[in-house]
Order: sequence, then structure tokens, then C-alpha cells
Amino acid sequence: MIIGAGVMGCACAHRLGEAGFAVTLLEKSLPGAESSAAAAGILGAQSEVSGPGPFFELCLASRQRFREYAQELTALTGVSIGYEDSGVVEVALDPAEGRLSVARAEWMQERGLRVELLDREEARRLEPALTDTMIGASYYPDDHQVDPVALAAALASAADKVGAKFRSAERVRELVFSGNRVTGVMTDGGLLNADRVVVAGGAWSAEIKGVPKLRATVKPMAGQIVQMESRPPLFRHVVYGYKGYVVPRPDGRVVMGSTLEDRGFDKAVTIAGLHRITGMGMEMVPGLQNARFTGAWSGLRPATADGLPLLGASSVEGLYFAAGHYRNGILLTPITALVIRDLLLDKLPEISITPFAP
Ligand SMILES: Cc1cc2nc3c(=O)[nH]c(=O)nc-3n(C[C@H](O)[C@H](O)[C@H](O)COP(=O)(O)OP(=O)(O)OC[C@H]3O[C@@H](n4cnc5c(N)ncnc54)[C@H](O)[C@@H]3O)c2cc1C
Repeated sequence: MIIGAGVMGCACAHRLGEAGFAVTLLEKSLPGAESSAAAAGILGAQSEVSGPGPFFELCLASRQRFREYAQELTALTGVSIGYEDSGVVEVALDPAEGRLSVARAEWMQERGLRVELLDREEARRLEPALTDTMIGASYYPDDHQVDPVALAAALASAADKVGAKFRSAERVRELVFSGNRVTGVMTDGGLLNADRVVVAGGAWSAEIKGVPKLRATVKPMAGQIVQMESRPPLFRHVVYGYKGYVVPRPDGRVVMGSTLEDRGFDKAVTIAGLHRITGMGMEMVPGLQNARFTGAWSGLRPATADGLPLLGASSVEGLYFAAGHYRNGILLTPITALVIRDLLLDKLPEISITPFAP
């Protein structure tokens, strides 16, 4: 049984169903209705991560699987997840940002990863839409993007194809135990028995009654996104900055984000948020001032106190977590699903997950 049908719940359901498990997904709302559909979709293993270590390795392991994952999901479901080899250009707008970019490039190159430091002219040759006031840029040719709404749809369909059962509008209130073993869940509709339960409830994961004490608790961190259209597309690369990002889709849509707001489960789109995001986007890609505004939304990132996901078996027998992926849950979808599948098959996951133990 899986609690939550965002990208994490559906991806785990797909891999578990494929491995022969009978899976039921319990979703308080609709599959993919929360953080997963609100995301920008940057597969930013290098552009998003602040330093080397196990989390960085987890991100790289997941990014490495994405191209094949996209093909697999399309073959199974007919849904394209919008995987684009767009690369990410990280713009440095002032000398302090320039110094940070150089330091980041150094440790990544030591790790054997591709990153190119570009001066202003080189950066504008690569991406002519960038501002001519930047001092330079870093180019991450292996960070790419997907369309998160399409990914969430493909994963729900993939889970369905391998036999997972969906129960939407079914909120889990409480975990049910016998001694130190989970035996089911209590939902608004009543008791449901299960010998294994995976908590994939995003920002709500720690709200369920009976959840054991976690390594780090999960809380919502709101983020707003502004969407616009520029046709024909104005630029090709994901543009990342120290204050936000701008993601061009090949069909001319552009999403800009985001804010980081610690205000509980409030998903309001605010004037201050729109102002900050559009200002940041136009500073990096000035041509966007003529783009047509088509919408704005916000979502709740599942943030943990130490910034690491809660991934693996908990202190309670039969209870697993695939939660707390914060700003990188789209990127971390394929590896999370493989880890959960391997654990339920009593196999050692192919990457060390000790630092992420719930
Ligand atoms: C503005 C924004 C931009 C982002 N950009 C990126 C990006 O560019 N790249 C990236 O990798 N990541 C990004 N993220 C992060 C990413 O969206 C999340 O980490 C990821 O979607 C988390 O997936 P999830 O399945 O854990 O959570 P969710 O998608 O929130 O799914 C959890 C589900 O569980 C359900 N649920 C919760 N509690 C219960 C319950 N008690 N009973 C039943 N159902 C329950 C919820 O209704 C929900 O549908 C972004 C997030 C935001 C908000």
C-alpha cells in the first residue's frame, strides 16, 4: 500500500507492480495534483546541488537514468514526459556570483563532471537571449528538463498498466500497527489492511497519525511559478541564476520560478511572489518582457530539516518512506522508485541510502 500518488507514489507503484506486488495507492486528492504538478522540471543534479556528498551522488544516479526512463514510460503509456536535452546555463550577474560559480566548477570537475566556465561573450554565443550585463556563466551540458505535469500523468498511467489500484479522494488518517509492525491504515472510509506501507505523502508525510519519530521531520515550503509564452521560442537552454530560474519548453511555453516560503500549507500566489519572479526572469533574459503571461501557481515542496530525503525502511517493520525530496523530487523519481522496489524485494539497493534513513 502506498500513501500519496504524486510522482514518488506513482513511480514506486510502477516499479513494485512490475516486480509482482499487488499495490494500492491512496490519494487524498487526485494523482499528481500537488507538488509534482507544480514543479519546473529541471533535472538539476549539478545546477541545484550545493556541494559534494551522498545527496549529490543520489542526484547524479537519478539523472543518469532519465533518458532511458523517458523512453520506457513513453513505450509503456504513450505519454511523452517532455525530456529535453536542453542543458543548463547558470548566469553570474556580479563578481560574488562569479566566484561562487568558479568554486562550484572546481569541485565538480574534480568529480569528473562536465561544466564549462564561460565569459560573457561565450555565454551569449551559446545562448544569445541572455542579458549582456552578466559577468559570465557556467554551462552544465548534462543537466536537462522534463515536463512535470506530463511526468506525473505518465507515472500514474504506468502504475495503472502494471496493475496498481488507485483510490482517489481517500485520505489516510492513521497508521495501524500490531506491536512494532505496520498492519494497515485507517482512512476516512475505514480500515484497510496491508503488510507493507510506503509513505509518499510529500509535504504531508509527517501529518499522518502514528508516523514514527523521523530522522528529520517534513514540512511544506511553498514555491510559486509564473508561466508565459513566447513564440517562436526565444531561447533553448534552461537559465539558472542565484535568485531563480527560467525554463523554456520547446513549444514556446516558459516557466519561471520560484520563491521559497515557509508559510505552512498555504498555496496562495501573491503579488510579491509574481513581482520577484518576473523581475528575476527579465533580468537574466530581457526579451521575456514581451512574452504573453499565461498563468501562475504555487506548490508545496516537501522539505526536511536537514535537506535530505527520507528514503528507505523505517524503525517500524513493514513501513517505508519515499518522501522529503524537497527541491529535487522530479529529478530523484527514477532512483527513488528503484530503491523502494529493491528494499521490498529484500535486495540491497544499488546506491548507498544509509544517509537518507528515515
Ligand atoms: C514551485 C516548485 C518548483 C519545483 N521545481 C522542481 C524542479 O525543477 N526539479 C525537481 O526535481 N523538483 C522540483 N520541485 C520539487 C518536486 O516537485 C517535489 O520534490 C516532488 O514533486 C515531490 O513529489 P511527491 O510525490 O513526494 O509529493 P507530491 O507531489 O506533493 O505528492 C504527495 C501526494 O500525497 C498525497 N497525500 C498526502 N498526504 C496524504 C494522506 N494522508 N492520505 C492520502 N494522500 C495523501 C497528496 O495529496 C499528494 O498528491 C519543485 C517544487 C515546487 C513546489
